[in-house]
Amino acid sequence: MAVTRYAGIRFAWMLLLPVLVGGCAVAASSERVVAERTRVDVAPAPSSLSYAALSDVARRADARLASDEAAGTFELQAGSRKVVVMPGVAAALVGSRLVVLRDEVMARYGRAYVPRALVPEIEAFLKGKSVEALARGSGGSSERPSTQGVRPRHVGRVCIDPGHGGKDPGAVSRWGLQEKEAVLSTAVMLATELRGRGFEVVMTRDDDTFIELNDRPAIAARQRADLFVAVHANSIRDSSFQGIEIFYPETQEGGGVGVRRQSVELAEAMRQGFAGAGLTVRKLQARDLRVLKLAEMPAVLVEIGYLTNRDEERDLRSRAHRQRLARAMAGGIALFRDVGK
Ligand SMILES: [Zn+2]
Repeated sequence: MAVTRYAGIRFAWMLLLPVLVGGCAVAASSERVVAERTRVDVAPAPSSLSYAALSDVARRADARLASDEAAGTFELQAGSRKVVVMPGVAAALVGSRLVVLRDEVMARYGRAYVPRALVPEIEAFLKGKSVEALARGSGGSSERPSTQGVRPRHVGRVCIDPGHGGKDPGAVSRWGLQEKEAVLSTAVMLATELRGRGFEVVMTRDDDTFIELNDRPAIAARQRADLFVAVHANSIRDSSFQGIEIFYPETQEGGGVGVRRQSVELAEAMRQGFAGAGLTVRKLQARDLRVLKLAEMPAVLVEIGYLTNRDEERDLRSRAHRQRLARAMAGGIALFRDVGK
């Protein structure tokens, strides 16, 4: 029940869900990537040190707990105040405010667990303290209504950054496909798709050239791009891994908090774009990647698939699949622009 009835909440979820880690050779050594993957994908049972059962939070805050199986969400309600969480997502809707978390909400055996860091905020909110008042450290109680009209954002120019290039092939599959080639070809298709939707496009490279990591966000800034979209392909020892992953910056030195928040929204819009093309994003998550951290505009990095998976590698060789990926990404970027803030 719950969520679908509340247009505002549903809208916010659509736009802004975060979660999880991954990546190719953009920043980490392959050993580190493997270690992170293992940690993420064999999800630990929630430790009571770091997680609280949502049912306990509900009891303490005197709130009603409900789950919406269709939407995959859990909701706490006290009077007109609602908190909505979705397992697998590192964010919570506290009233009209999206709180981005370091760790994702978890579900085990039908019960939801939230990171302990969030609990004081949830309880205070459900008991009637406003988020603004909490932020100020006082105990006021004026809650700001959330209804905002949909206004398209100004997104004129998109900087596409195909990973690697030149002397740096990126990941290379056992069957010989190079990341630098697959992502360049997909990125060029993305540029065409975006131009068809009225965007201007600049590219950090449009041929087989090596570009330093730091130069990539610098090119975007110099070209006064409104968005930065890096395109990579993944690899990992375990050949069963496949799927698309989207990363947004953990912190964004170049842009600050407001820009970083928009990066999260862009990531979610791109997930929607993939969904619209029938493609599932297996991971959507904050990650400490230099190209994202340094970007001065909303920035995401998309891993378009695993070169280490036989089937996906085959897909990534195909023009039709690259085209589908490009169209999906362009759709997500257009959604980010058109749905607005
Ligand atoms: Zn890469």
